[in-house]
Amino acid sequence: MQSRSQSASKPSALRHLVVVLGDQLDLEAAAFDGFDSTHDAVWMAEVDEESTHVWSSKQRIALFLSGMRHFAQALEEAGRPVHYHRLEGTTPRAQPSRPADTSKTALTTATAATAAIPASASAEPTGLAARLQADLQILKPQRVVLTEPGDWRVLSELRAVIEAAGLSLEVRADRHFFTTVAGFAAYAKARKSLRLEYFYRELRQKHAILMDGDQPAGGQWNFDADNREAFGPEGPGRVPPRATFEPDALTREVINLVNTRFADHPGTLDSFAWPVTRAQALQALQRFVDERLTLFGRYEDALWPGEPWLYHSHLSAALNLKLLTAREVVQAAEQAYRAGRAPLHSVEGFIRQILGWREYVRGIYWTQMPGYLDKNALQAHEALPEFFWTGETDMACLRDALQQTLRHGYAHHIQRLMVLGLYGLLRGVHPQAMHEWFLSVYVDAVEWVELPNTLGMSQFGDGGIMASKPYVASGKYIQRMSNHCQGCRFDPAQSTGPKACPYTTLYWDFLRRHQTLLSQNPRMGMQLKNLQRLTPEQVAQIEAAAAQHRAG
Ligand code: FAD
Repeated sequence: MQSRSQSASKPSALRHLVVVLGDQLDLEAAAFDGFDSTHDAVWMAEVDEESTHVWSSKQRIALFLSGMRHFAQALEEAGRPVHYHRLEGTTPRAQPSRPADTSKTALTTATAATAAIPASASAEPTGLAARLQADLQILKPQRVVLTEPGDWRVLSELRAVIEAAGLSLEVRADRHFFTTVAGFAAYAKARKSLRLEYFYRELRQKHAILMDGDQPAGGQWNFDADNREAFGPEGPGRVPPRATFEPDALTREVINLVNTRFADHPGTLDSFAWPVTRAQALQALQRFVDERLTLFGRYEDALWPGEPWLYHSHLSAALNLKLLTAREVVQAAEQAYRAGRAPLHSVEGFIRQILGWREYVRGIYWTQMPGYLDKNALQAHEALPEFFWTGETDMACLRDALQQTLRHGYAHHIQRLMVLGLYGLLRGVHPQAMHEWFLSVYVDAVEWVELPNTLGMSQFGDGGIMASKPYVASGKYIQRMSNHCQGCRFDPAQSTGPKACPYTTLYWDFLRRHQTLLSQNPRMGMQLKNLQRLTPEQVAQIEAAAAQHRAG
C-alpha cells in the first residue's frame, strides 16, 4: 500500500483530520476551508453499521459506497491525502434492523494515493465511531474537522469518541443549505406555529430567487392552481427516459460487493444507474431542466402504473450526497424560466420543493431532535406488514409503488405520501417502523430529510409540527389521481364486503378511531362530518372489516 502523504507517514504531525461522511461528497464543503495537503488529511470509512442499523436496500448501499469511492478518487486528483477504509468479504445478514455483526472490515487503499492505517487497528471496530476512535489513536491529529452531519446519531457518536480521545472537534456549518440550523431555530422561536409558506416566502426574498424587485415573479407566490393535474384516461403518453449512468469499473466492484456482502438486503441492483460523481449529477440536472421541468408542476401529484419517473427530477440523491448544490439546482430552474424555456408555475413548484420543503424539514429535524424520533401522537402501534419488503400485495397502487421502490430505490413524492405513507397511517403502523422502512429503502434517504417527512408529514406522529392535519384520504383519492383502480381487484367506492378497497375501509376506521382528537382540528371538520353521516351499523361493519384486514 502506497502513500504519497507526508501527514500519513508522520501521523503525529497531522494538524487537521477532516472527517467526510457518505453524504458529504463535496470538494468545496466548509470542512475543506483552509485545507493544507502538507499538514491535513481526510478520513473516510465504509462500515457495515451504516448499512445495517436499518436494513438498507441494495440500491441505497451501492449508491453511498460508489459515491464515496468516486469521491476518494476526486480527493486524490485534488491532491488531498485520504485515509480510507473499505469493506471487504461477505457477511450475510438475515434480520431487519439487526445491529452490525462482528465481521471484519479490512482497511485497503481507495486509490494508490490513499494512506494505510495498520491492519491491526482495524481488526475490531465495525461502527463508524469505533473505527474513528481506533484511528485517532494512530493518526493523533491536533484537531478533527467535520461539516455538520445529516444524522443526529452520527454526530453524537462521533463527538463522544473525539472528546474521549481528548481532541478538539470543529463542526463547520453546511453551506449546502440556504438556512443555518441556528437561523431556523430563531425563525421558529418567533412563531407560534411553523408553516412552510411564510418561511419559503422569506427565503425567496432573502436570496432574491424568482423575484422581480420586491415582488414575486408573476405577481404570485404560489401557482398550485396551475399544478397538480392527473393524466386523464389516456395516461402520460411518452415520458422522456430518465438520465441513466452505466456503472463504471468502480461501481461494478461495489455492485458485486453489495450483492455478496448484503445479499439478503432488500431490492435488486439490476437497474442501478444513479449518478455517482459530480459530473454525472450535473448531467442529470441538465437533462431534467431540458426534458422534464416544463411539465413538472402540472403532473407533480399524478400517479400512473408502471411509470416510476414521470416528470420528477430524480435529483434528491445527488442533492443529499452533496454531488449537487441546492443553489445550482434552484438557479438552473430559474434560468430556464428567465430564458423562456420553462413556465413559471412549474419552475415555482420545483423551487418550492428545494428552497421551501427541503430547508424546512432540515430545520424541523435539527430543532426537534432527539425527542422527535420517539413521537407517536396517534398512539399507532401496529407492525409494518411483511409485504412492504416484498411488494406482494393485491392492492395494485401499493404493489406498484413497492415494487418500483425495491427495483430502483426510488418513488416520487405522491407515491411516498399518498400511497405508501397513507397506507401505514391508516393501518395504524408504528411511526418508527414506517421511519425505519423509509430510511432503509430509498437512495435519497438520510435521516434529517427522511424522518420529518415520514414521522411528521406522512404519519402525523408529531401531532402537527410538520403538517396542519393528517394527510388522510380514501381509495377514491388514488382513483382520481391515477388509473391504478382499473387493474385492481378492490373497489375504492366500497368500504366493506369482499371488494372493499382497504384504503377506503381503513380511512373510515381511522376517522372513527381518532375522531375525538381530530375534532379539535378545524381542517378536519368536513371529513368528520362525512363520518357522522354513516349509521352506527355501518361504522361497526367498517370497524370489523378494518380489524379483519389488519389481521389478514
Ligand atoms: P422532485 O419531485 O423532482 O422534487 C425536487 C426536489 O425537491 C427533490 O429532489 C428534493 O430534493 C426536494 N423535495 C421535494 N419534496 C421534498 C420534501 N417533502 N422534503 C424535502 N425535500 C423535498 N426526500 C428525500 O430527499 N429523502 C428522503 O428520505 C425522503 N423521504 C420521504 C419520506 C416520505 C414519507 C415522504 C412523504 C417524502 C419523503 N421525501 C424524501 C421527500 C420527497 O418525496 C423526495 O424528495 C422526492 O420524492 C425525491 O424525488 P425527486 O428528486 O424526483 O423529487
